[in-house]
Amino acid sequence: MKLHEYQSKDLLASFGVAVPGGRVTKDPAEAKLIADEFGGKVVVKAQVLMGGRGKAGGVKLFTDSQAASDFTKELIGKRLISIQNPDGMIVEQVLVAEQIDIAEEFYLSVLLDRSEQKLVVMISKEGGMEIEEVAEEHPEAIVRLHVDPAWGLSDYEIRNAITAAKIPSQAHRQMVPMIKALVKAYLESDADLIEINPCAWTPDGRLLAADAKVSIDENALYRLPQYEATKEDAAEDEIEAEASRRGIAYVRLGGDIGIIGNGAGLVMCSLDEVTKAGGKPANFLDVGGGAQAERVKSCVELVLMDQNIKGLLINIFGGITRGDEVAKGILEALATLDVKVPVVARVEGTAAKEGLALLASSPILGAATMQEAAEKVVAAAYGK
Ligand code: GDP
Ligand code: MN
Repeated sequence: MKLHEYQSKDLLASFGVAVPGGRVTKDPAEAKLIADEFGGKVVVKAQVLMGGRGKAGGVKLFTDSQAASDFTKELIGKRLISIQNPDGMIVEQVLVAEQIDIAEEFYLSVLLDRSEQKLVVMISKEGGMEIEEVAEEHPEAIVRLHVDPAWGLSDYEIRNAITAAKIPSQAHRQMVPMIKALVKAYLESDADLIEINPCAWTPDGRLLAADAKVSIDENALYRLPQYEATKEDAAEDEIEAEASRRGIAYVRLGGDIGIIGNGAGLVMCSLDEVTKAGGKPANFLDVGGGAQAERVKSCVELVLMDQNIKGLLINIFGGITRGDEVAKGILEALATLDVKVPVVARVEGTAAKEGLALLASSPILGAATMQEAAEKVVAAAYGK
């Protein structure tokens, strides 16, 4: 789960990483006050959780606090669109930060190298541009430093790596502790990615994180409850944002066959079966164990928020989840929502008989197996 830039910078600063000063605001008048604190020389930055903000017009340098305030006013409520995020995201707040002079831009990141089962620090002197671009055009300009899980990193190893990355030697004394701080922050904050791009070297010899991206493991949110609210901002899709508010595991996939199942494995099988039957799954949705009628209804409602849906497949293997509870939920959903698409339900396991009996007098199509259900929903949805 991505954190906003201002949150990422606060987090890294608490581990000793140097960051430019600044504060976040939604209010142009306050933006002016913050800019005044830095003598008007600021950078105003949209706080949206997407890449390529600068190119999308979400980052601008100022030497005058009124102009910074005017730009804040222009940005708030605006939808920014980038190559990485063609649907765009609405700006709700901006970071008004001290504008630093930059002599050189470097790149630093920490992430997990799954094949090595180790953390890896990526270092490049080609900062400022997207790292994917650097990887394509100058792969030799990226140096990877693996972190030994037992021993961590020694100063010596870090110095070797940044020398190999051709980071100017004047910056070494500050970059060594910065990399150590990044690794410590990664481990202690349950991060899955930390990226500083650019890591700025100033003409007066300071090394600062001019931009920061921290992503934390969503399953660790209970340890970092201060970021709970950011979860919704992180959802790029409006239905995913709503799912997050409802506490439902939902991922939009872009097709037109809605899918609801219990248990992640069963849902993934359902996606495969629908694909095999010639359909395009619209989503992943796991109702979870022991789902009650109310929750099932909420799930049906959520899936149908997707305007592309042509058919809905409900695949339940009852264990803790009872088939009759699921059937009640489906019926309640159909009664209250004006469902125009065909619905196919396969209910198996605990209280399946009771569930199917409840559905029998409804327009819902039954199916004995998952394969049959997938074929039925695809045929009904595409009018075959
Ligand atoms: P991104 O486009 O979302 O990665 O946003 P960044 O925060 O990285 O800003 C984009 C670019 O704006 C950076 O690569 C810098 O070149 C420039 N920039 C950002 N902050 C400053 C600053 O404080 N001073 C100067 N001189 N340039 C900055
Ligand atoms: Mn950046």
